[in-house]
Amino acid sequence: MKTDKYIKNYINGVLVPAASGEYLDNYNPSTGEVYSHIPDSDEEDVQQAYEAAERAFPEWSTMGVNKRFRILQRIADIIEQNMEAFAQAETMDNGKSINLSRTVDIPRAQSNIRFFATAVLHFSSESHFMEHPQSINYTLRRPIGVVGCISPWNLPLYLFTWKIAPALATGNCVVAKPSEVTPMTAYLLSKACKEAGLPAGVLNIVHGLGGKAGRAIVGHPKIKAISFTGGTNTGREIASIAAPMFKKMSLELGGKNPNIIFADCDFDKMMIGTLRSSFTNNGQVCLCGSRILVERSIYDKFIEELVKRTQFLKIGDPHSDVTDMGALVSEPHLNKILKYIEIAKSEGGEIQCGGTRIQFEGKLAGGYYMKPAVITNLDMNCRTNQEEIFGPVVTVMPFDTEEEALALANNVEYGLAATVWTKDIQKANRMATKLESGIVWINCFLLRDLRTPFGGMKSSGVGREGGLEALRFFTEPKNVCVKY
Ligand code: NDP
Repeated sequence: MKTDKYIKNYINGVLVPAASGEYLDNYNPSTGEVYSHIPDSDEEDVQQAYEAAERAFPEWSTMGVNKRFRILQRIADIIEQNMEAFAQAETMDNGKSINLSRTVDIPRAQSNIRFFATAVLHFSSESHFMEHPQSINYTLRRPIGVVGCISPWNLPLYLFTWKIAPALATGNCVVAKPSEVTPMTAYLLSKACKEAGLPAGVLNIVHGLGGKAGRAIVGHPKIKAISFTGGTNTGREIASIAAPMFKKMSLELGGKNPNIIFADCDFDKMMIGTLRSSFTNNGQVCLCGSRILVERSIYDKFIEELVKRTQFLKIGDPHSDVTDMGALVSEPHLNKILKYIEIAKSEGGEIQCGGTRIQFEGKLAGGYYMKPAVITNLDMNCRTNQEEIFGPVVTVMPFDTEEEALALANNVEYGLAATVWTKDIQKANRMATKLESGIVWINCFLLRDLRTPFGGMKSSGVGREGGLEALRFFTEPKNVCVKY
C-alpha cells in the first residue's frame, strides 16, 4: 500500500479532493520538509460526508453483527498485511521512532479493529423483572446514527481506530477527522476500507484543519455524537458547541500525570518503567508521567540514575532501527516545549540534563529534535508543574510521607493517569483509591487491556472509552416495559 503526494478525502466510498480544491502542506518532522499535501476541507466536505453517511446508515445498521464483523476483520487483515508500509508512513508523518510504529502504533491499530469487531458479537443488554405488577423491562441498544470522531496527532492511527472501530461495529456511520498534522495513515486506512469492501458512506474521512473541518463536524446539526481526543482547551470549545445541541459526547483530554516512587520499590524495574513513562514517543503520550514524586531517602540516587539513563537515549533519524527517540511532531510544538524550559528556569528550576534543541547536519538538519529534559527544584504550584507540556520534559520532586505524595499528586486540574511504584501492596491500593485519576498503574506503565474503562476525570475529560464503555457510548439505550 503506497502513500501519495496528494492525500484525498474518503467520502461515499470514493477518494476525492476537498470541495474547495485547496491543499495544506504536510511536513516530515525528521527533515522539516513538506513531503505531501492535505485537503483543506470545510463545511461543504463535511456536509457531503454527512449525506453519504446518512444514506449508508439504514443498511449498515441493520445488516447484523456477523456481516459487520467480517468486513471489519478484513480491514484489520489489510492493515496487518501492510504493517511495514503503515509503520513507515506513521514514522514519516509523526517523527516517532520506527520501532514504536512497528511495535505499538500499527499493531495496536489493527487490534483495536479486531477487538471491537469481535466485542460486538458478545455485546448484550440488560433486562429487569418486576414482581408487582408482573412485568419485564428489557433494554434495547440501537446505534445512534451518524457520529463524529476527531483524533490527535500523537498516536495517529492508534487513536483514530480506537474511536471509529466501536462506532462502526455497533452499526453507526461515521464522519471522522484525523489531525491535520498527521493525516497519512488515516489516508492509507481509507484505501484499506475500499479494498475490504466497506460499503460506501459507512466511514467518511474528512481531512483538514480542526478550526474548520473539525468545527464543522462538531457543529453539524444532524451528527448526533462526538467522540473527541485532544487538548483540554479544544475539548472545552467542542463542549461549548455540542452541549447546547444535546449531543452525546466523549472527551479524552490532556493530562499532567504523577509518577509516585516509594523507597521500598524494586529500584531497577522502577527505573526501566520510569524511563518509559517519561519519554515514550518523546513524552507525547497523554499517559506519560511528567511529574515524578520520589520518597526523599532515595531522591538523590534516583536523580543520578534518571539523568544517566536519559543521557544514554539515542535521539536521531526516526527511520533508523537504533533510534530511541525521533523528532518532535512539528516546529511550533518544539518551540512550545522550549518555551516551557525557559519558564521552568524563570521559576527557579534546575535543568539536570537536556532541554535544548539538537541541530543535526545533513538530511536531518531541518528536523525538530531536542534533548529530553529532567528538571528539579520546582514548587508544585508553578506553571511548569501545573500545565501540560506534552513533550520530553519531566520534573522531579521529593516527598516525605504517603499523605504528602497524595496531596502533591492530586494538586493539578488534570486527572488522567497515575503510576505508583512500591512493594507494599496495601499502600499501593490505598493510593489507588485516593488518587484523582481515571487510570492507576501499580508497578507498571502503559499495560493496557482493551476491555478496561479508559479516560480521565477533572479537566482530563468526560466519559470513558474502551470495552463495554465504548459500545455503550455508541449505542442509544431504550427501555421497553412489557406487562404480563
Ligand atoms: P488538539 O486539541 O489541538 O487537536 C485534536 C484534534 O482536534 C485534531 O484533529 C484537531 O485538528 C482537532 N481540532 C482542533 N480544534 C478543533 C475545533 N475547534 N473543533 C473541532 N476539532 C478541532 O490536540 P493535539 O492534536 O495537539 O493533541 C495533543 C493533545 O491531545 C494533548 O493535550 C494530549 O494530552 C491530548 N490527548 C489525550 C488523550 C486521552 O486519551 N485523554 C490521548 C492522546 C492525546 P488539527 O490538528 O487538524 O488542527
